[in-house]
This record gives sequence, structure tokens and C-alpha cells, in this order.
Amino acid sequence: MRHIAIVGSGPAGYYTAEAAGKQWGDDVSVDVFDTLPVPYGLIRTGVAPDHQSIKKVSLRYEKTALSENVRFVGNVHVGRDVSVAELQEFYDAVIFATGAPHDRKLGLEGEDLGNVFGSAAFVGWYNGHPQFASLDPDFSGKHAVVVGMGNVALDVARIMSKTEAELEGSDIVAHALEALKTSNLETVTILGRRGPHQIMMTPKELGELMQLDRASPYVDKSDLPPEDDDAILEPGLRKSVTLLRDFAAIPENIHGETPITIEFDFFANPKAFLGEDGKVRSVEVERTTIEKGRAVGTGETYEVPADVVITCIGYRSSPIEGVPFDERAGRFANDEGRILPGLYAVGWAKRGPTGTIGTNRPDGYGVIELVSEDIGMGSRKRGRDGFDELAAERGLDIVTFRDWQKIEEAEAAAARDGSPREKFVDIESMIAARN
Ligand code: NAP
Repeated sequence: MRHIAIVGSGPAGYYTAEAAGKQWGDDVSVDVFDTLPVPYGLIRTGVAPDHQSIKKVSLRYEKTALSENVRFVGNVHVGRDVSVAELQEFYDAVIFATGAPHDRKLGLEGEDLGNVFGSAAFVGWYNGHPQFASLDPDFSGKHAVVVGMGNVALDVARIMSKTEAELEGSDIVAHALEALKTSNLETVTILGRRGPHQIMMTPKELGELMQLDRASPYVDKSDLPPEDDDAILEPGLRKSVTLLRDFAAIPENIHGETPITIEFDFFANPKAFLGEDGKVRSVEVERTTIEKGRAVGTGETYEVPADVVITCIGYRSSPIEGVPFDERAGRFANDEGRILPGLYAVGWAKRGPTGTIGTNRPDGYGVIELVSEDIGMGSRKRGRDGFDELAAERGLDIVTFRDWQKIEEAEAAAARDGSPREKFVDIESMIAARN
């Protein structure tokens, strides 16, 4: 028998659990830990609430979670409630699938001003992550600035621009829907330090900006390179750039008809956030040119009005005591998934915050291959019996998958019309709902 602990119940965690079941059948016992009393990590708290079809992948994780040899151990904080060394006493392998839940910082003056948020916090707020439920962004001003040109920037710009009716079928939490209803936003400026050929946005997500009821995208034609230059791009990026060209071709009068303009500001590197009475008012930006693919400052600066700012520039993993961490890369120090004997990383905790949800599948199967090479038939460790004894001694209040199903039922019952669920946004309410 092999005893495996997976820390984190998001996509990387459940694909790894699935792979363990495929690899060893009945000869494995897998415990999937999560700090929260609810599973699915980024599917629940990261994927945009209006992208319900993407969230359906959780049905696949549910199937794994309900299989005989897999167990969900919610409401347990590894590193606080139980140490990594203690887990290693009980399990043959401890696999970190903890994702990258923290915002990378720009390190600029004014980043701590009021109404400046990182995307982990802001996305967590509209998705009901308990840690960010009290964020309270203020949309009473006219100008929002989104820093970064990846898919998270698109999610954030789109959610801020949608009408209440457009958010109907989503599972955006009530506090976010209420706050967005009071929005006076007229401009959402997306700042990219490089140019149209260097965006990280994918065509499907970019195309959604054309479908919005009260917002239209704006690209300045003069920012686009000659069309012939697109031929060298890989097909996905070429499609995205074609969409930018479509945005640039939208007639001026259309922007007058939609209350919100989502404008792309390329070659624009933020230098500082400027404020008044502790609250952000503008972003100082330096024009750049591109040299060998890199943004190089020109010395020319200007200010972009900003009543609310969301930085969407990537994420960092959370270090855990006793596990080597690569500070510069913001993830666990690992060699293709191996951290130290018995310790592994998978998903964003292994490779950093890139790729789609599906990228975690081969990652999960890959790490189980490594574990299989390393642990062979397994050892005589005690596995979940050992952990359960320790948890009882410490009085840990473990939330099981059955408990989660009750929480899930309660969330579905509380949903507003058209929405799949109204999420609990604090841990106490989640735990109370299992009874
Ligand atoms: P991302 O794709 O890496 O984009 C980050 C953006 O931030 C880039 O435009 C980057 O510009 C910019 N940036 C980084 N450091 C900066 C700095 N110091 N100053 C100014 N700009 C800076 O990251 P993401 O948007 O957070 O997305 C993370 C992953 O999740 C991606 O793989 C994404 O595709 C995926 N995702 C997918 C979906 C979907 O499929 N619907 C939705 C959300 C997220 P440079 O390129 O110049 O560094």
C-alpha cells in the first residue's frame, strides 16, 4: 500500500489524485488536504464567474474525490495545523499542489494606496474567497486601470464592464454584484508595457470584449505594426492580434454609444501610483519601445487617470516551513517536480503561474510517475490512520467531502434566479452549512 498526501484541492491536486488511482488502483490511499473547507481551488476562486462552462471540469474532480481510495481533508492548514515533517512521518509522498495564491508586486511607489488591488485579491473578492471578502473596492470614479495584458487582465476588465443582466447566469457573489451595480466607470484602460505582438491574451477571451452590452474595446491604429509582420506569429497569437486589428477598426461613433470604453494602452510601463487623501487618482506611465522583445523606457512620461487599479501581473506560491522555496521564481525549489526525498510539487507550485487548467493534467500524471519510481511498493507508514490520530489529539475540525456536498447543496439552494450558487464567503458559514 502507498500512502500519498496531496496538499491543495485545485486542478493540480485532483489530476494528481486521479493519476494515483490510475497508477496503483486499490494499492494506494490518497488524502487531499485543503486550508479551506471547500475544494477545487482556482476553479472556485480563480476562474471568472461568467465562465461557467470552464468550471464544469469540477465534475471530473468530484468523480475522483468520490472514488474509494481518495479522501478530502478540508479545513486543515498544512504548515500550521500539521507540519510537513509530521505528514512525512505518515505518508510515502507529500505532493504540494498549492498553486500560486499571492499577488506579485510591481514594487512601485503608491502601490499601497487605497483602491489599488492585485488580481489575486480582486478576483478572490468577486469569487467569494474568504480571505478577500472584505476588500470593498470603490467603483464610484470614472476611470479604472488594469495593469498587464494576460487573460486575468481580460477577466477583470470584462467583469467590471458587464451589466447586471450579463452577470445573471454567473456565480459572482452578491457583495460584488451589489458593488458593481453602483459603478460609474466610463473607461477601463489596460496597460501593457510591451506591444500588440507581445500580448499574453488568447483569442476566445479577447473576442468576448466584442460581445459586451455596454462596453466596447478601443485600440489606436497607430500602435499596430504593419499587417505583414503578423505572418511570423504563432497561430494563436496571430488570431489575437487580428482581433486587436478588428478593435482598431471599430468606428468612433460606436464608442460614443457604449457607456464604457475598454482601451488598450500599449508601450506603457507603470512607474508610480499617485494619490490624494490616501486613495489612488492616477498612474504615472513611461512610454517604451521594444528592443529584442524587451520593453525599454524612452524617458517620456504621462499620467493615466485611475480611480481604481487592478494589477494583473502574475502570482507567487506560498512558502511552507521546511520546504525549500525559490524566492526569485515565487515557487517551490524543485527539479521537474522533485523537491526533496518524499516531497514533490505539481501545477503552479512547481512551474509557476502559466498555462491553462488542462496543463495540470499531464503535470499530475507526470508527478505520479516520479513518485512511483521513488517509492516502489511503498513503505510501512501509517498513512491516514496516523494522521487521523494526530488530528484527533489536536482537535482539528476536518471537513470531509460529504460535508462539502452539504455545503454545496446549501449554496445551490441560496442561488439567485439563473445562477448556479450563492457562495458562502466566510469560513464559519461554510462549516455551519454542513450540519
Ligand atoms: P500572464 O499571462 O503571464 O500575463 C501577465 C501580464 O502582466 C503580461 O502582459 C506581462 O507583461 C505583465 N507584467 C508582468 N510583470 C509586469 C511588470 N512588472 N510591469 C508591467 N507589466 C507586467 O498572467 P495572467 O494573466 O496572470 O494569467 C496566468 C495564467 O492563467 C496564464 O497562463 C493565463 O492564460 C491563465 N488564465 C487563463 C484564462 C482562460 O483561459 N480563460 C483566464 C485567466 C488566466 P510582459 O509580457 O511584458 O511580461
